[in-house]
Amino acid sequence: MTEATVIGLGEMGSALAAALLRAGHRVTVWNRTAAKAQPLVQQGAVLAPSAEAAIGASAVVIVCVSNYGATRDILLAGNTAAALRGRTLVQLSTGTPQEARDTQAWAQVQRAAYLDGAILAWPSQIGGAETTILVSGAEAVFRLNSALLRDLAGNLTYMGEAVGQSSTLFSAVLSYMAGRWIGLCHGALICQAEGASVASFGATLASLAPILGAESKHLGEVIESGNYGHPESTLKTAGEDVERLVQQAKEAGISTEVPAFAAALFRRAIDAGHGAEEHAALIKILRP
Ligand code: NAP
Repeated sequence: MTEATVIGLGEMGSALAAALLRAGHRVTVWNRTAAKAQPLVQQGAVLAPSAEAAIGASAVVIVCVSNYGATRDILLAGNTAAALRGRTLVQLSTGTPQEARDTQAWAQVQRAAYLDGAILAWPSQIGGAETTILVSGAEAVFRLNSALLRDLAGNLTYMGEAVGQSSTLFSAVLSYMAGRWIGLCHGALICQAEGASVASFGATLASLAPILGAESKHLGEVIESGNYGHPESTLKTAGEDVERLVQQAKEAGISTEVPAFAAALFRRAIDAGHGAEEHAALIKILRP
């Protein structure tokens, strides 16, 4: 028996297995494409000949593959599911809250304990003291496995018994990140069109990180409290600034796609009478 099994040895699964090995754990690994296990075998991992054998090798089975569909492909093949009986399945593939709930119910039928996690880090950060992995599921199961999981992420965060909570927060963070990535690329177009350094733009964003973080915290509190009435900068002011980005894009001959999308949302919110409120009042026009 090894202490943990890692199924899925892509960028993230390999990083998880390597972190466990670095922390001194005995680790069994399995991947559909077996060749990806070689670097880990050189670091001391045991390569199992099948997913079923990999599950049988440890009391804790961590799965990190592309998505929950890939997880099902692995666990529903042959007798693999039966091997989970009495073991703890830790799902670290990215999914939706509903997929987490469905997988918990499925694991229960297999008589396996289940934890659902979400990784808020790049593979190179796995094992770091400040690395965050969110975990939800039965508290007793979390406590039993928290020492092992903390070797993956120093900032291991328990989200509670409701198993969909980790992927809920992950999805919300990803939504924020998606906006950032899109905004960064349009900002880079602006810089390039005007001969400004895109690397300096990135550095400026990095220097603004604490302010942007504080703003996110503030807007979260505004939405939770429903108190949109005391803005330092109104939604109308921001909306008009964003509309000016459309003008700038036309003048520079670059794509207007991103600012036009953003400006249309702000315009709808202003037209709906929210111009004097906090920027976060945009949420009011996004609700059904
Ligand atoms: P990846 O490098 O593309 O690896 C995908 C893994 O899934 C491989 O092991 C692949 O096996 C396996 N796989 C896919 N479909 C499969 C199937 N039908 N049957 C069996 N195995 C299958 O992706 P990754 O970056 O490691 O991401 C893995 C998970 O971590 C994802 O859910 C991702 O959202 C999450 N995550 C990643 C990051 C990141 O920065 N990379 C950050 C946070 C969360 P083969 O090798 O055989 O193709």
